[in-house]
Amino acid sequence: MEAGQSGRVYLVGAGPGAADLLTLRAARLLARADIVFHDALVQPDVLALAPQARLVAVGKRSGRLSTAQQFINKQLVDAARQYGCVVRLKGGDPMLFGRAQEEIDALRQAGIALEIVPGISAAFGASAEVGQSMTRRGMSRSVLFLTPAVGKGEVPHAWADATKDVDTLVLYMAGRQARDIADGLIAAGIPAHRPAMLVENASLPHQRMWPTTVGGLPDAAAQLAEGPALILVGEVYAECLPQALALPRLRHAAA
Ligand code: SAH
Repeated sequence: MEAGQSGRVYLVGAGPGAADLLTLRAARLLARADIVFHDALVQPDVLALAPQARLVAVGKRSGRLSTAQQFINKQLVDAARQYGCVVRLKGGDPMLFGRAQEEIDALRQAGIALEIVPGISAAFGASAEVGQSMTRRGMSRSVLFLTPAVGKGEVPHAWADATKDVDTLVLYMAGRQARDIADGLIAAGIPAHRPAMLVENASLPHQRMWPTTVGGLPDAAAQLAEGPALILVGEVYAECLPQALALPRLRHAAA
């Protein structure tokens, strides 16, 4: 790199986990990256698509040792001054619950060229595995992506208030607080018997899913291992419940 010049930073979505759920654009960038900064959730076989690159883990898994966001911002700016092609790889889609804006702002402020490459968000990866559409004619016209998680120093928010008028809910970063989530939803007026799905490690070989209800979420979540987990809530998941699976046609035959 010539003095005074900067490379380009690509904020790239790594998808829900499976390496072949990356976009072609992401794979091509990984193949020519000089350095890749990646989250803890990014799988080894995704990183294997960048064998020539220097790999830097900047993982932020809740409850574990993490790299402070400001430090990540600085590392990206420094890398752009040193390398031509800098990839910042984030799980799912970078623009959803990925702290992308902090990095975008820092790079813009430093005058670094930036491109964003979308990825398959966990909601879409999980929906594909569940096999149930988040929307459905006559039943669900709205989907809310929500996280009850707040960053350090942020005031807790009344997240459950936002859930009242939506048909299908997708809760990110929620698996380990399932009891609070269930209590919050029920207090917001959502019936405890509303169908729900808990999906862990969507798209990965060790994926697991639990069909349940809002009231059953804490028991289902007690079975979670260490993987990332998503909670889906809505009438569209009624067909996933064990009684519906036993009698798949009954519900609609009666309607
Ligand atoms: N930007 C990411 C979300 C980052 S927040 C995206 O678009 O998917 C991290 C949360 O995403 C996790 O706590 C979990 O709720 C969810 N998640 C990510 N990968 C997942 C997977 N393979 N299966 C289930 N949930 C996942």
